Amino acid sequence: MKPEKHNTYCDYPFKQIAIKNWNKDKLLEYTPCCMMSTSGDNKMNWENVNITPIEAFENERFEKLRLDLLSNIKNESCETCWNQEDKGIESARLYSQEYDTKSFSNLRQIDITLSNKCNLMCRMCNYGNSHNFKKEISFFKKHNLLDQIQYATSDYYPEKTLMPNSTNSDQIDWLKNNTRKIKVLKASGGEPFYDDQICQLLNVYVDNDDAKSTILEFDTNGTLFNDDVISLNEKFKFLNHSISIDGVNSVYEYIRYPHTFNDFNKSLKRYLKLNNIFCVHYAFVLSSLNIFNIRDFLFYVRSITSFVSNNKDFYINFEKVRPYDRGTSINLLPIYLLEEAKNDILDLEQKNCKNLISSIDDAILNNNANKEKMLLEITLLDKARNQNFKKYLDKRLIKWLTK
Ligand code: SF4
Repeated sequence: MKPEKHNTYCDYPFKQIAIKNWNKDKLLEYTPCCMMSTSGDNKMNWENVNITPIEAFENERFEKLRLDLLSNIKNESCETCWNQEDKGIESARLYSQEYDTKSFSNLRQIDITLSNKCNLMCRMCNYGNSHNFKKEISFFKKHNLLDQIQYATSDYYPEKTLMPNSTNSDQIDWLKNNTRKIKVLKASGGEPFYDDQICQLLNVYVDNDDAKSTILEFDTNGTLFNDDVISLNEKFKFLNHSISIDGVNSVYEYIRYPHTFNDFNKSLKRYLKLNNIFCVHYAFVLSSLNIFNIRDFLFYVRSITSFVSNNKDFYINFEKVRPYDRGTSINLLPIYLLEEAKNDILDLEQKNCKNLISSIDDAILNNNANKEKMLLEITLLDKARNQNFKKYLDKRLIKWLTK
């Protein structure tokens, strides 16, 4: 069976377990994918996850989910996918058969998040995904601005995180002992290549002689492709990483603080030269900060990907910044600016772009323009980072924000 718009089939529950939602060193839930675990609200109603990944995969909760997805029943645990599809957005399930032509039930993929260790602190991110936010939270507390940044981001700026600091868990021990079975290893963070524990896990794959038969699929900020990381990556069968960019030049530097675009560009070129890339993926989190940078971004990724990587296939996944009512959400831009941003790119070929125009159309349909809230999120972070949006962003956005 294949996942298609007219059915409810998804391949993930037939092959994959996601291990992502922690309370310190205690795992809170197993899910088949990261789409289900992003909200962290135990969608499959686990009471006890003190079991191994294979035991979870064989549990009645997974059995029921598989049966529903085969029987055209929209299981409520998958509401993220159903909601996206209702909005005309292509959901994750439609791409769940990336390596398989036939469907069969057998645990062979694991998707992990082990820590919030990261070298960056991007504007759309938070403490749950980067340990670097700790300093900034102290800054906001010291200046009595924590309430304001939490309001401006619609509570996407938590003061505390439950992410673990170590991989001392039965689940990861199980994975280290079963590298032969798990042929696709996915990871997100934090930044996976910044986390020694992930690099250790990759070395276990190498030591067990299983790297050569395993595909790696990491969500990475693409800044850390140094000699060691490249040498580890080239030992694996295929690489199918998704590189997060969100803009080029000054817009990149404003969002992906405190990295420089020049250093990112050098790191990306090193990665693109590898011969075991399966397909090049880019992830672009669409916000008011970068909506006028899409044209330059598209020219950049087209030229660098075809130039460096011998015309390998590439895809760009556009996703609106969450939550959809935070200050920098594109829903909070006025409709005339959303239409200008859309007109900027309509003449460009978009066959490699997933959910670009549909995301802008969705913001026009659900428009809730709010200059004050957008300006508040932008200027609070400017203050904490000693930046000034007028130096980095598109003049049309600056004009609307300051008039
Ligand atoms: S349908 Fe969506 S939420 Fe459900 S398992 Fe598949 S990708 Fe995950």
